[in-house]
Amino acid sequence: MVRAIVGANWGDEGKGKITDMLAKDSDIIIRFQGGSNAGHTIINDYGKFALHLLPSGVFYRHTTSIIGNGVALNIPYLLKEIQDLESKGVPEPKILVSDRAQVLMPYHMELDAYEEERLAGKSFGSTKSGIAPFYSDKYAKIGIQVCELFDEETLRDKVKNICTLKNVMLEHLYHKPLLKEEELMEQLASYRDMIAPYVCDVSAYLHEALKEGKRVLLEGQLGSLKDPDHGIYPMVTSSSTLAAYGAIGAGIPPYEINNITVVVKAYSSAVGAGAFTSEIFGDEAEELRRRGGDGGEYGATTGRPRRVGWFDAVATRYGCRIQGATEVALTVLDVLGYLDEIPMCVGYEIDGEVTRDFPTTPKLKKAKPVWKTMPGWKTDIRGIQNYAELPEACRNYIEAIEAEIGVPITMVSNGPGRNDIIKRVR
Ligand code: GDP
Repeated sequence: MVRAIVGANWGDEGKGKITDMLAKDSDIIIRFQGGSNAGHTIINDYGKFALHLLPSGVFYRHTTSIIGNGVALNIPYLLKEIQDLESKGVPEPKILVSDRAQVLMPYHMELDAYEEERLAGKSFGSTKSGIAPFYSDKYAKIGIQVCELFDEETLRDKVKNICTLKNVMLEHLYHKPLLKEEELMEQLASYRDMIAPYVCDVSAYLHEALKEGKRVLLEGQLGSLKDPDHGIYPMVTSSSTLAAYGAIGAGIPPYEINNITVVVKAYSSAVGAGAFTSEIFGDEAEELRRRGGDGGEYGATTGRPRRVGWFDAVATRYGCRIQGATEVALTVLDVLGYLDEIPMCVGYEIDGEVTRDFPTTPKLKKAKPVWKTMPGWKTDIRGIQNYAELPEACRNYIEAIEAEIGVPITMVSNGPGRNDIIKRVR
C-alpha cells in the first residue's frame, strides 16, 4: 500500500508534520522529487528540525528513508543533514539513495545564482539551490547519475562535455570563472566516497517491499501550484510536485498509489514571485505572518518572509483535483483563532466575469478575489482532540472548505507537534 502526501497549494502546507505523524505506522518513506530548495519543519521529542533532503520519517527506528531517482541530490548537503540528526541524538536512520538519482553539482548552484543576477528585478525568486539548472541538465542528458560516479571512464567523457558546454555560458554570458575538468573529477570522486554506503537499486528494493505488503509513504515537496505543467508557469519549480510523479520519481507502478492525502493550509502562504490572488498586505498581513505556522511564516530554507493571504478555494479545489486527492489534511487551523471574521476567496473576477475555475497564468494575472466572510471562533483550539469539541464556528469553517474543495477532510491539524491532530471519524 502506497500513500502519497502532497501539497494542494504553493508549498509549506505542513506536509512534513503530517508525514512525520503518519510515518509511525509506515515502513518506508520516500522523497521522489525536488531537492534541498525547500524545507520541512518537524517538531518532535528530539527537538525542532528543518529537513531539506531527508524524508520526514527519519526519526523512527523502524522506518527506511529513501531518496528516490527523481530527487536533485546534493551529496554534501545530505551528509550534513544526516550528521545533524546524529548530533541531536536521533538514532542512526536507515537511508537508501537511488543509484539512478542525479547529482546536484556546485556549478548548478553557481549558474542558478548567476542567472538570478542576470535577470535582476525580473528574477523568479529562486532559492539558488541549483534546482532549475540541475533539472535542465537532466533533461538535456548531461546530468550525472549516482551509478556513473562508479564508472570513471564514462564520467570523464561526460565531465569534458559539461566543461565545454558550461564554459561557453560562463565566459560569454556571465563573465565568471570557468569549470576545470580535473577539479570536477576530484569533486565527483569525493562525492562517490560519501554516497557509497547508501546507494541502492531502489525500484528493485521497492518491488520486493510492496510484494511483502510493506506500507510506503511518498513525501512531496512544494504543492500543486508549483508544478511545472499544472502550476503557475513559469513561476514554478522544475520537477513535478504531483502524486502521479511519485510513481516515476520513486520507481513504482502508478496503480500502487492508492491513497493521495493532500495537505491543505487553512489560509494561504507562498514564497517567491507569481500571481497570488488571495494575498493580503499591510498590518493585516503582518499579523497573520507573525502568528502563522510555528513561530511565523518565514521560509525554512531561506528565512525569507512568506507572502500570506486568506484561504483560496479556487486554487485549492484545483490543487486537490490535479493531485487526485482521496482525502485532505487541513493544517494550521489553530493560527486563525484570533480573528473576529475570516475571509475566504471563493471566486476570481477576471475581465468582469466571476469564475470558480483556476485559470492559466495570463488570465490569473488579472484575477481579483471574490470574498465570502465567515465568523471566527475567537479561542485557542490547540489541545483539542475530538472534532465535536471544536467550536461550532470552527467546524463551520472546516465544513465550508470541505464543501468548496469537494474532498473529505479526514484530519485537522491544530498545532505544529506530532500529536496536535484531530482525526475525523465520519
Ligand atoms: P511543508 O513544506 O509542507 O512540510 O511545510 P513546512 O514544514 O515548511 O511549514 C509548515 C510550518 O507550519 C512549520 O513551521 C510547521 O511546524 C508548522 N505547522 C504544521 N502544522 C501546523 C499546525 O497545525 N499549526 C501550527 N501552528 N503550525 C503548524
